[in-house]
This record gives sequence, C-alpha cells and structure tokens, in this order.
Amino acid sequence: MTYPELCMVIDGERVRGGGRRTHDVVNPATGDTLAALPLADPVDLDRALDAAARGFRRWRHSTPHERAAVLQGAAQLMLERQDELARVAVLEQGKTLAEAKVEVLMNVGLFNFYAGEVFRLYGRTLVRPAGQRSTVSREPVGPVAAFAPWNFPIGNPGRKLGAPIAAGCSVILKAAEETPASALGVLQCLLDAGLPGEVAQAVFGVPDEVSRHLLGSPVIRKLSFTGSTAIGKHLVKLAADDMKRTTMELGGHGPVLVFDDVDVDQVLDTMVAAKYRNAGQVCVSPTRFIVQEDVYDRFRSGFAERAGRIAVGDGLDPANQMGPMANPRRTDAMERLIGDATARGATLLAGGGRIGNRGFFHQPSVLSDVPLDAAVMNEEPFGPVAMINPFANEEAMLAEANRLPYGLAAYAWTRDAGRQRRIAREIESGMVGINTTMIGGADAPFGGVKWSGHGAEDGLEGVEACLVTKAVHEG
Ligand code: NAD
Repeated sequence: MTYPELCMVIDGERVRGGGRRTHDVVNPATGDTLAALPLADPVDLDRALDAAARGFRRWRHSTPHERAAVLQGAAQLMLERQDELARVAVLEQGKTLAEAKVEVLMNVGLFNFYAGEVFRLYGRTLVRPAGQRSTVSREPVGPVAAFAPWNFPIGNPGRKLGAPIAAGCSVILKAAEETPASALGVLQCLLDAGLPGEVAQAVFGVPDEVSRHLLGSPVIRKLSFTGSTAIGKHLVKLAADDMKRTTMELGGHGPVLVFDDVDVDQVLDTMVAAKYRNAGQVCVSPTRFIVQEDVYDRFRSGFAERAGRIAVGDGLDPANQMGPMANPRRTDAMERLIGDATARGATLLAGGGRIGNRGFFHQPSVLSDVPLDAAVMNEEPFGPVAMINPFANEEAMLAEANRLPYGLAAYAWTRDAGRQRRIAREIESGMVGINTTMIGGADAPFGGVKWSGHGAEDGLEGVEACLVTKAVHEG
C-alpha cells in the first residue's frame, strides 16, 4: 500500500523541501514512519496569508452556481476516490477501513448539501415608507484560519473547507500533522473540481507557531477550531485580540442515561458499537453511562461481555472491529486514567491495558462504580473506555448528566414519552440522541454548549457561521 508524498499547498502550488523542518508521520498500527511532512516557516505562512487575501477578493464575488459546481464536483471526485482516500486515512490514523469509507461518504453528503445551501443565503427587505428602502444582506466574513484534528482525518478537513467555500470565503487549513495526507486528499478534490488555488491553502507546522502567526494577522477574519477545550480556550483568547469571529468544536464527556423501561440488549448492541467506534476517539463518544438501578447489573455485565468480544487489530484487516489509538499520547492517557480510577476504587470489568508493543493498541475497557472524583469522570478520556454507574431516579440521573462543564452530545434511552421530552428539555448539551446514536447529518447543526464550544458546523448553521450581516438604509 503506497502512501503519498507530502507537501503543503499554497496559492495552488505544492510546497516541500527547501531545507524546511519536517515531522515524521507514523502508522499507528505499526509505529513505522510513513513519510516526512514539511513544516511551514514564517515566509510560507505569509505567502498563504497573501494568497488567502487575494482568494477572498476573488471568491466573495463568485456566483452560487460557481460555488455549487466546485462543491458538487469535489463530492463526485471524493466518491470516485473513496477507496484511496479511506486507505490513506487508515494508514495514518488507524481506524477501520469500513469507518474510513463512511467518513468519505459523510463528507460527500456535506459537500452536496452545502452545494444546495449556497442558493439559499437569503437576505430580506424591511418595511419602510414609500421612497425609502432598507435591506439586510449577508456577506462572507473574510479569510478563515481553520484548525482540524486527527480523529476524523477526512471529515474534519471537509467541514473546515466546505463551509467557508460555500459562504464565499477563502481559507487556510492547518490540519493535524499526524494525518496530513487525508486533508490534502480532500483539498485536492476541491482544486480538481475547479476551486481557484488562492481560495484554499493547506499548511502544516508547529501548531503554536502557526496559530499565533495566522491569528496575529489582520487578514484572517475568522477562527474555526476543532480540538481540546484547553487549546480552544487559548485560541479564542488569541482571536479576541483582533475581534475575529470564532467557531469552536471542543471536547465532550457524553452522558448516556439508561432507564429501566428499555430493552437492555438492544441498547447494549447499539451503545457498545458506538463507544468503541474509532477506538473511542470521537468528541461525541458515549462516555458516562448513567444507569437506573434495576437494570444496572445486567447492563454492566452485558457491556463488559460485548467489549471483550471486540476484535482489535490493524484497521486495514476487515476482520478487525477496532484499530489502534492514533498516537502514543492516547495510550499513555488511557493508562493514567484507568490507573487513577481503579486506585480510587473503581471496578475494572474488561480490558484495562495496552495490547502488544507494536503500534498503539489498547483493549476495549469498562469501568464500573467509578468515584465521581476520578479523573476519568471529569476529563474527556478520548479513548476506548466506558464508565458505568448506578442511579436511583430521573432527577439524580439528570443531575449527573449536567454535572460537568461539557455539553456536546448526550444520549438517553427510555420508552416513556413524557420522560423523553423532559430530558430533551433539561439536558445541557448541543446535541441529544433519544433512543438513537445518530445525532448528526449534513443538514443538522453539529456543535456544543458550555466548555464544548460555540457555533456549529454542518447544516445551514455551518455556512451562516462564515457570514456577516449588513444592513443598508436608503432614504
Ligand atoms: P491537543 O490538545 O494537543 O491537540 C488537539 C488538536 O489541536 C490537534 O489537532 C493539534 O494539532 C491542535 N493544536 C494543539 N495545539 C495547538 C495550537 N497552539 N494551535 C493550533 N492548534 C493546536 O491534544 P491531542 O493530544 O492531539 O488530542 C487530545 C485531546 O484533544 C483529546 O483528549 C480530546 O479532548 C481533544 N480532541 C478533540 C477532538 C474533537 O473532535 N473535539 C479531536 C481531537 C482531539
């Protein structure tokens, strides 16, 4: 299996070599180096900013038809290149090939949805006396600096590029240095579909250097970031110095409320698969299982039994259901979090350790009766560990769900219609799944509240986040 030669893409040109620093991209299933990634120096970043400024002057005047043609064309190319894109994503990130193919399809759906939305970015005319006219219109915000993490190597860059392009902005994308080839593959589809080179750039670098440089420039008018809450808070402060718009997709700690009126096996079949998707490295991953006492024992033993059956190995082998973790930081974090929880008295029902010493594999793990002061009950584990605790009633379960400052995704399982509505109303979360884990879609806003961030991607909201409003009054 070949892995592409890596570069940056600035002003439509492939940039590499030239004595630049490099970062080794590693296959997490083997620990082997795949390729060296060139890192931007300040001159590269200034070139990208200059191109983005020109790109904005051009693309802000593009017609909806032009934008739609690029987005639809890129979606078609992604479909044609699905196998190649998915294989590259598995090589550099580790998820299973089946998951990577779904990621491509989700991105295809998003680009096609945005291609339709570009025709509906309406303004309005206000009621005024005869002879006067007041209009409200929406305009692209300006060049966007977008930072995409490694956990969805295709989908994250797709979101970061798609919305600005639909809105008429230019964009400088810094995708994760761990998964650059997937991001470059998505950008290439857009460029091959006719996107002018100056409209979208891809740079890589030392993250703190790149974000300080780009956010320090008055050219950039918007920050879009997906990643941890800690880094998100830092970047929002940088953006505030120049009053740049922000869309922040940060961490979560997904509560799952399981009431005693459900079919326990059906809930387990759905939630166990959701928990270990992408080895738990998903911001909307179900994490804290808040289970009503009457079904608690059945739920936790069924969870542990299913977790123990998951086949873990190289994501390219179709027999495997879970791949490695994306990098050694995550296996180290699992060790620390599980060790801390058991030291504080939690019961380890399944897994708990690394698998082998080649690559970054970790066992699907289950903890129960976890004290609330354990680190794993308070910080996003971002890994293959589920925590299951018993609660007496709806009130206590809701209190636990809302205990943390995070509010990205929450799930509840109950057949009681009144309770479904109460939970939907009371839970502090940007997205809520009731009797389902399907909480996204190209047409649905994806985003959180509280420490999980603000603003949304996908849906009409994703494009609106790249627009500003202008009111014009004519006497
Ligand atoms: P991290 O916080 O160091 O990095 C998270 C992301 O932010 C990475 O893509 C990284 O390249 C980028 N980043 C880091 N410092 C930056 C800076 N100064 N400027 C710009 N970008 C910067 O952590 P990590 O080890 O890569 O990931 C671990 C944690 O990040 C996880 O525990 C999880 O909470 C969070 N995370 C969240 C998402 C998500 O989808 N919301 C995705 C990936 C990681």
